[in-house]
Amino acid sequence: MPADLRLLESANLRAQEAALTGESDSVEKSTAEIRAAGELALGDRRNMAYMGTTVTYGRGAGVVVATGMRTELGRIAHLLQAAPSEPTPLQRRLDQVGRTLAALRVAIAGAISAVGLVRGEALVDVFLTGVSVAVAVVPEGLPAVVTITLALGARRMLARNALIRKLPAVETLGSVTTICSDKTGTLTENRMTVTVLDVAGHRIDLEEETTAQGRARLDLRSPAHDAPEGSLALLLIGGALCNDARLASDRDGDGDGLLHAVGDPTEGALVVAAAKVGLVKDELDASKPRVAEIPFDSERKRMTTVHDLGSSRQGAVRELVTALCPSAARLAVTKGSVDGLLELSSHVWVDGRLEPLDEGYRARIERAVHDLAANGMRVLGVAMRPLEPLPAVLDASAVERELTFVGLAGIIDPPRAEARDAVARCKQAGIRPVMITGDHPLTALFIARELGIADAGARGVTGADLAATGDAELDRMVESVPVFARVSPEHKLRIVEALKRRGHVVAMTGDGVNDAPALKSADIGVAMGITGSDVSKEAANMVLRDDDFATIVAAVEEGRVIFDNLRKFVRFSLAGNVGKVVVMLLGVLVGMPTPLLPLQLLWLNLLTDGLLGIGLGVEPAERDVMRRKPFPPGAGMFGGGGVAQIAGMGSLIAAISVTLGAVHFLAGNPDWQTMMFTTLAFCQVWQALGTRSGADSLLHAGLGSNKPMLALSAAVVALQLGAVYLPVLRDFLRTSPLAPADLLTCVAASSLVLAYAELEKVWLGRRTAVSVRDVARVW
Ligand code: ADP
Ligand code: MG
Repeated sequence: MPADLRLLESANLRAQEAALTGESDSVEKSTAEIRAAGELALGDRRNMAYMGTTVTYGRGAGVVVATGMRTELGRIAHLLQAAPSEPTPLQRRLDQVGRTLAALRVAIAGAISAVGLVRGEALVDVFLTGVSVAVAVVPEGLPAVVTITLALGARRMLARNALIRKLPAVETLGSVTTICSDKTGTLTENRMTVTVLDVAGHRIDLEEETTAQGRARLDLRSPAHDAPEGSLALLLIGGALCNDARLASDRDGDGDGLLHAVGDPTEGALVVAAAKVGLVKDELDASKPRVAEIPFDSERKRMTTVHDLGSSRQGAVRELVTALCPSAARLAVTKGSVDGLLELSSHVWVDGRLEPLDEGYRARIERAVHDLAANGMRVLGVAMRPLEPLPAVLDASAVERELTFVGLAGIIDPPRAEARDAVARCKQAGIRPVMITGDHPLTALFIARELGIADAGARGVTGADLAATGDAELDRMVESVPVFARVSPEHKLRIVEALKRRGHVVAMTGDGVNDAPALKSADIGVAMGITGSDVSKEAANMVLRDDDFATIVAAVEEGRVIFDNLRKFVRFSLAGNVGKVVVMLLGVLVGMPTPLLPLQLLWLNLLTDGLLGIGLGVEPAERDVMRRKPFPPGAGMFGGGGVAQIAGMGSLIAAISVTLGAVHFLAGNPDWQTMMFTTLAFCQVWQALGTRSGADSLLHAGLGSNKPMLALSAAVVALQLGAVYLPVLRDFLRTSPLAPADLLTCVAASSLVLAYAELEKVWLGRRTAVSVRDVARVW
């Protein structure tokens, strides 16, 4: 062990002891010691990683000085727990509803009390009535129903592989108008296979062989092809060396030497391609060990590794080194986008000879890239550079220059089968899918056309175009361009911001660290569960467990369902409350004694808002949920004729109950109050069943399509019957047992509510037909 590492270890041990004994002085001292020792050990070329640092790429040494709440992060966690949380947009919307209702409540209760006082009623009665009305207006079940609906919704999303990190995202999802998606892995399968190898003068096509699980399997004892020579070998060796994927034996196999690649699929494809001709990465790594690396990043779109050449005096690598710089002991291998590599290359390796990279070669290579990309292939180039001394500062600009271009590999990555369908669903739902990728524009356009994101004649915009575009023009551009290619993460941010300026609600995917700002800025940041970096997940509102585009669309659908259901609940609940308030008002105005007692009103609210409300919260999707335009971002709970609907339904409920009550009151039936009470309860059961779907008749949807609602309705009926017939509840709620004929009257009268709800759908249906056509016109 080197001395500096030994120093680090002993400092670390002392710190642990100090931490155990709890002496904060010596902990601090040892921490400083460790830091000093660590800096020494790591060298000043690398950054020290402090608390909360996420390792995104590269290598490093970790030194633990404290854990849990004793760390800097623990302190922050403590602060976070103590900090009050911001209300979500939904909470704010509901607060608004609440405030309006509170004002209404005071006004109505005041009015009723005033009427009572003017008429000279006893103060106690006036007070009681006032309180009753105040109780009637408030939807007591609201907070519970909202919470349960959101939580159950998030669970349904999780079942469809979308993990919601921030609950408000659930509602925002329903309003999404644009989904900006990565290509690789999200729209494509990320199941890469090298099918073309192209070096100056040669091109070979490899057959595509994948197993049922979509993994290439290899038998190293009998390579599929003869070992190639010269440039082809060099290309494969370079692709395998400058590579972090590796071969692993199949655990499920029977130890027959079958292998598959582990790691980044693009890199895995290259490792597999090399192994197919007997160039095994492990062996290559052993003979040319990696001594340094400049990791891949999506700005540069390439990576470089530096290898010790060892003592071998032959082979394709030695040939190139001898031609370029015989004394070099190290070789830098760079792989990445060909356009980038061509800018950095001065020579090209042609059949064992070094040639200047002139216009002729450049054009030839570009044509090869063009041909492959136009067929939807991902193209990666490999270039090399012998290094005599290692540059003092190992960064990209020092190493990635004066390269010798070796060749390129064409990799196929088929579009996901389910993505095509998901794109079509998006478009039907008035949502525009946009592809944003670091890949070649032709590759991107090919896949985009396959999936229906772009039309045959569509044009892609590249990162270079974006750099030359002002914000005003970008704003126009983002409305119609379906594909952005060769973009960097910073461009993603500009695209999101432009879309937001145009009033779009944007979902944006990302996997890399650099994608975090775009994910944060998007209305819905979507991180990749499998390939995503921790930083991107941290910045996202939602994580896709399967990296699949179709999952985003599924989540949008669930978001719409949840918003639909909450809106249905608020309307249902308020209409019921309007009904109860009007009953109280009319009753008082007509001159009946207090129509309903405060306890009876509370009971009704509990049954209807609480139980039936939850039933509405779990209502399955409307048939047209993905066939209509997104909700306008600012849409409140009352949009689309909500107030009229609430008023209509509320008046009907009141009319039925008051008429029934008044007729029996005037006829001298002592049970008139219990009848009104029961009618109101049944009205809301019918109402819940009738307003479950905003468009489909209950006959069409079927009672069984929302089983919880069926059970809850039965429970409400049973409880209400209990309230009327069970002595305990009867004493409590001051009801009287109804004669069977009276009970039947209540059921029959209240069923009018269902008939009304169904007729309303027929009437509203004519209007929705128009809006469906609107959507069709947009597309
Ligand atoms: P995408 O938007 O398709 O995910 P990436 O950011 O993964 O695009 O890749 C952009 C470009 O970077 C690719 O076209 C390729 O040229 C290059 N590239 C991707 N992965 C690697 C890798 N592992 N090593 C070197 N270059 C890569
Ligand atoms: Mg990628």
